[in-house]
Amino acid sequence: MPSIQPLPDLLISQIAAGEVVERPASVLKELLENSLDAGARRIEVELEEGGVRLLRLSDDGCGIERDDLPLAVARHATSKIASLDDLERVMSYGFRGEALASIAAVARLTLTSRARGAPHAWRLRADSGSIEPAALAGGTVVEVADLYYNTPARRKFLRSTATEYAHCAEALKRVALARPEVAFTLSHDRQTKRRLAAGDLAQRVGELLGEEFITDARRVDVAAGALRLQGWVALPVGGRGAGQHFFVNGRFVRDRLLLHAARTACADLGYGGQPPCYVLFLTLPAEAVDVNVHPAKTEVRFRDGRGVHRFVLHAIERALAAPIAARVSAGEPVADAGGARAVYEPSGQGAQAALPLRVAKVADYLAFMADGRRPATAAAGDAAVPVAAADGVTEATAAVGTLPPLGFALAQLGGIYLLAENAQGLVLVDMHAAHERIVYERLKAQTGRPPLQQLLVPALVRVDALQMATWQERGAEIAALGFELAAAGPNELIVRAVPALLAQADLGALLREVLQELAALPASRRIEQCRDELLARMACHGAVRAHRRLTLPEMNALLRDMERTLRAERCNHGRPTWVQLGIDDLDKLFLRGR
Ligand code: ADP
Ligand code: MG
Repeated sequence: MPSIQPLPDLLISQIAAGEVVERPASVLKELLENSLDAGARRIEVELEEGGVRLLRLSDDGCGIERDDLPLAVARHATSKIASLDDLERVMSYGFRGEALASIAAVARLTLTSRARGAPHAWRLRADSGSIEPAALAGGTVVEVADLYYNTPARRKFLRSTATEYAHCAEALKRVALARPEVAFTLSHDRQTKRRLAAGDLAQRVGELLGEEFITDARRVDVAAGALRLQGWVALPVGGRGAGQHFFVNGRFVRDRLLLHAARTACADLGYGGQPPCYVLFLTLPAEAVDVNVHPAKTEVRFRDGRGVHRFVLHAIERALAAPIAARVSAGEPVADAGGARAVYEPSGQGAQAALPLRVAKVADYLAFMADGRRPATAAAGDAAVPVAAADGVTEATAAVGTLPPLGFALAQLGGIYLLAENAQGLVLVDMHAAHERIVYERLKAQTGRPPLQQLLVPALVRVDALQMATWQERGAEIAALGFELAAAGPNELIVRAVPALLAQADLGALLREVLQELAALPASRRIEQCRDELLARMACHGAVRAHRRLTLPEMNALLRDMERTLRAERCNHGRPTWVQLGIDDLDKLFLRGR
């Protein structure tokens, strides 16, 4: 074995570069962060050949003094921290003082900079160490050419120009999301790809993740003690995703704990596997989080990981679960007499068609809903939509002249869809899906044994041997769910009472499903551990079936229930429960207003 030798400096930097400078995009990330640390408000990025041939970044930050230029590219030299105390409180992106040194070790780096107040700029070529006067109005220009020219082994890991460019664009996007007050431009092979003006966060997010995302998404802004979570979160819709963007104190991170919290928050909406789309900013005191876990700093360590997890999970859950009323109209009164459109009265009541009936209609409905609800539900046999408590109308609908968010029912279509008109236009509701969610949320909200519905005539339900055994084993737990059962024979159970919310269900199918679900549960586990899943299945049986004819009052009751129900946007399986077709959308269908 040869004798032990200290490694040459260049080799040390080249080894370190393996961690910091994985590809052009990681170079770009480091340079962008340096510019932001220098207080830049305008950053221009030019790339050639995916950033491999050339990566040039110009900023209008504070610049670097002539005498500091060699230090900037020296290893472990930084202007950002000076002590361990500083490290624990660090708020700048950089602090390790190794990015420029690492980059200089694997590419040709030039640094041109003009510090504030300096008579002119200076240019440093990192490979030769030469410094010469240069022309520059202010700020810093960093040029990184021929990445990995001297380390062919790494060069082999580079992908196509298009791929490397895409990674660079993504890196810029992440930085730009966190800093809407800074203007960015990005060009590739002399073509401008992105031009982001300084603005507010909503504007920046819309530009980078799509206006659609902002429209779909729920606003999050929750604070608890020193923790704060802000941003937007949306359910993943049909594969169209805005991605996951999590920032901790302004730094983009990909943290398992945070990803897990976001994914879990979505699980109850039928998206167990898929994470929601979001752009979220978590802020907390610098001491509460360690960013010095990895040179690339995309991992963090929280001092109180569990607390952060719980906080983030609940914040996202709450945002996703907000009732529709909180979103569609944000509580503001909509469409009144003045702005109302003439509506076609669909119920065939003679010659009133096409009259501007809006106000009269709304008032009628409100009056009707106020006292018409009770009789509608009291007609028990007919009430396919059980209304929990005849508590009248929600506050949103209480004032005459305002339309509830989901509007009023017009008709039923194909036995499956409910049509309604609201201030925006047409609302289409999947009756079963919507009702299923309502029943599920109500079941979940009940604590302890739910109210029972005694059956006038006890029902006989056929079960198989395993189902019978499950009943014998878990009788007490099944009783706690709201079923009163007795054995009537080796293959038959008598049902005397069921949860009141499920009184309309096909009892045989409902009971067999519950038993089957429980049979799959290991003996050591109690029902509580799969309660929500079980309730979701029960809700499906309790929900109004397709092809069931609903009366208009029943339909309206369903709409009002949806408005008040948490997570009403989605059925228990994650399908949407309703869609809005705005007047604009309809106009487009008819090529109007072109
Ligand atoms: P770090 O960012 O961890 O300090 P770097 O190697 O990235 O380490 O940069 C070294 C030093 O160079 C920084 O601490 C900073 O003083 C200076 N520097 C780098 N880029 C810029 C810039 N665009 N404007 C002003 N100073 C810069
Ligand atoms: Mg840096």
